[in-house]
Amino acid sequence: MSALYGTYARSELAFARGEGMRLFTEDGTAYLDFAAGIAVNALGYGDKHVVDALKAQADKVWHTSNIFTIPEQEKLAQRLVDATFADKVFFTNSGAEALECAIKTARHYFWARGEKERVDIIGFSGSFHGRTIATIAAAGNRAYTEGFGPMPGYKHTTPGDLAAVEALIDDKTAAILIEPVQGEGGVTAFSDAYLKGLRALCDKNGLLLIFDEVQCGYGRTGKFFAHEWSGVIPDIMTVAKAIGAGFPLGACLAKGEVAESMVPGTHGSTYGGNPLACAVGNAVLDRILAPGFIEHVDAMGKILAHELHQLMQKFPQYITEVRGKGLIAGIKIAPPVRDFVARLRDHKLLTVAASDNVLRLLPPLIVNEDEIREAIGIIAGAFVEFDAEQASAAQ
Ligand SMILES: *Cc1c(COP(=O)(O)O)cnc(C)c1O
Repeated sequence: MSALYGTYARSELAFARGEGMRLFTEDGTAYLDFAAGIAVNALGYGDKHVVDALKAQADKVWHTSNIFTIPEQEKLAQRLVDATFADKVFFTNSGAEALECAIKTARHYFWARGEKERVDIIGFSGSFHGRTIATIAAAGNRAYTEGFGPMPGYKHTTPGDLAAVEALIDDKTAAILIEPVQGEGGVTAFSDAYLKGLRALCDKNGLLLIFDEVQCGYGRTGKFFAHEWSGVIPDIMTVAKAIGAGFPLGACLAKGEVAESMVPGTHGSTYGGNPLACAVGNAVLDRILAPGFIEHVDAMGKILAHELHQLMQKFPQYITEVRGKGLIAGIKIAPPVRDFVARLRDHKLLTVAASDNVLRLLPPLIVNEDEIREAIGIIAGAFVEFDAEQASAAQ
């Protein structure tokens, strides 16, 4: 019996080491990784540049506290500001904490302007923003909120319908919060027109637009951030997962005037952005922003989408939709997705289930064409196997 909280339905599989695109068990069995620790391990396993940076910083200083200046943190913030719409950055240890900072920043922005009643955040079904009280409330998924008490301050609608969003806006609304590509909710990429429509609603009503790019950001869609495809600029953006490539790190980015009221005493974090985390973060960013890296992701994303469409033609009875953008890809399948993920695991391919019975593919961003074809081959084999089982069960 495990001494851990029973909050996960864990597989018994445990890994001893990793290398590039593969994880290995203690007995040396290799698994091709199309899960990447849920979009975290953007550089796969054992990236030398990042490992060297961590080791070098480990010999200097791990933690000092945000009561002191942290040079690695200043540097990482400046680099993120230079590469995005943002002027200011707050570092956290996780995605949910980045969202907490985003929500506090939005509410405080209006409070400081004397619009104290503006506290509500409009969110969308199918969204996921983390597991803290504020972030489950923001996502509004009953499967996560039930049993955890009242959660005022959030409204929800179905994504895709601008009129429905407009109908929710009143003088208590502060912000609209959305993932440009929903991850957990079923790998849904929203159209440029829809994101532009949300921006226009925010502009018309004086609201803030918050993009949660914790999963879809940091190169995964083939741009540094997913919203760049649409040209729509948010006021606040949350980042995590790939930013530390496996070291716990997150960030909330904001426009200067939006973050202005977040003065000493309004927010803080003991660990957030400590020297060790930011040394790793800087090394990860070196790799992500290296010439050609994001172009590689874009090229691989196109190949993956092409291969998934071919697969859908081969198995139209089992694959009904190809979703996603770049290397955040999904297929809506007929067999129960959790069983199918386990089946793929038996065939030494790691994938992730998403809502709406979607099989989610999130390979490390270093994936190459051969590895994509290898994964597609394993998925095809699993469908053939499933098909044979269905046929024999029907006899
Ligand atoms: C994973 C995720 C989060 C939460 O991140 P944690 O590090 O688990 O707190 C928030 N938003 C999105 C879009 C995510 O995918």
